[in-house]
Amino acid sequence: MTIDYRKTDKAHVWHPLFQHQRLEETPLAVFESAHGTTLVDAEGREYLDAYSALWNVNVGYGRQEIADAVYAQIQKLPYYPHSQINVPATVLAEQLAACLPGDLNHVYFCNSGSEANETAIKIARQYGRQTYPGENRYKIISRYRGYHGFTYGALSATGQARRRKAFEPLVPGFLHAHPPYCYRCPLGLDVSSCSIACADEIERIIQSEGPETVIGVIAEPIIGGGGVIVPPDEYLPKLRQICDDYGLLLILDEVITGFGRTGKMFACEHWDVQPDLITLAKGLTSGYLPLGACVASTAVFNAFLGESDENKEFSQVCTYGGHPVACAAGIANLEILQKERLWENSEKVGAHLLSKLETLRNLTIVGDVRGKGLMIAVEFVQADGTHLETATTNRIVGQLREKSIIVGKSDMLLTNRKISFSSHHR
Ligand code: PMP
Repeated sequence: MTIDYRKTDKAHVWHPLFQHQRLEETPLAVFESAHGTTLVDAEGREYLDAYSALWNVNVGYGRQEIADAVYAQIQKLPYYPHSQINVPATVLAEQLAACLPGDLNHVYFCNSGSEANETAIKIARQYGRQTYPGENRYKIISRYRGYHGFTYGALSATGQARRRKAFEPLVPGFLHAHPPYCYRCPLGLDVSSCSIACADEIERIIQSEGPETVIGVIAEPIIGGGGVIVPPDEYLPKLRQICDDYGLLLILDEVITGFGRTGKMFACEHWDVQPDLITLAKGLTSGYLPLGACVASTAVFNAFLGESDENKEFSQVCTYGGHPVACAAGIANLEILQKERLWENSEKVGAHLLSKLETLRNLTIVGDVRGKGLMIAVEFVQADGTHLETATTNRIVGQLREKSIIVGKSDMLLTNRKISFSSHHR
């Protein structure tokens, strides 16, 4: 059975981030079913899914409530565009507004994290034109190592050369600052005395570009695919302040960090920061169906109100945005999260896991262990402090799979040349 799937897959499926020529060496798993945090392959072998699929099955596999809600909605109304009211989208939007911080009250639905960020970028640019009519504000600042999606706008905001280089040139008007990556500070500083210089770098970029050309800053509260980078406590409040000082929108990409992953319902709550736009996907349905959302504050939404002849409406159409079946899955998913208070579980289990992983620090190959809630990374290094080679990372991931544990990996550097590392890095 498995052999047949592998053969058919080899002939016809083009997998992402995968060198097909090496398929024989690194055969892909055929996962056929799952329950809780356990994946089952076609041979009946069980694995702990420590990666939560792609950081998204927040409520776990096999939730009957979601299956029932989806089935009922397909029978009732499988689809209608959200140019009109569909009940599941409306109910879910109200519930999201209730659990999101502050006045993030206006939900634009789409299908994925990339689309959610694409939407946020476009809202920001249109907001800029409508709010500052005499200026030309369109530039968006993001961070190196950040990931925001595969579509051209979201990819342009992404700060990972490995994801970008094959597709350049990208969209104009995106600038990158260094992230708060304290383990290997890109500015060569130490967090105990740096005064969060990486946030100042963002302000310096704004000043150098001319504030009247910049409209927003987009950031993951905790960088995910770029290496689980938890910022120092002062960082996000400082970004908020800079955005306020220059009249910019703060866009927080909570595609990974949302819906309980980090120990709060949304990661921005750790630092009590409310963005102007927040982007959501993944845990929004726990991956049971594709759904994304960009949620705007009242002030941003109000900038799109006007007399009919002013043509201020947001002019993006998305056929499957607010898909009633996906939204029904989202409602059932949110109910589980809230009933079981799963963010508390993330905090508790995450703290336990982190404390156990901390014991690995005395291995030469382990450079750092960090994370928040159930978003945790172990950073491996070579003896001289440089990054591990991709082949070695792949071997570690492969050997963990041999031990029935599925984990994710992040290796994005194109060069291993040592520049300068902060003092506590070995
Ligand atoms: N933002 C972040 C922070 C992500 O991690 C991802 C996907 N891993 C995306 C956006 C893009 O989401 P999608 O793959 O659903 O388009």
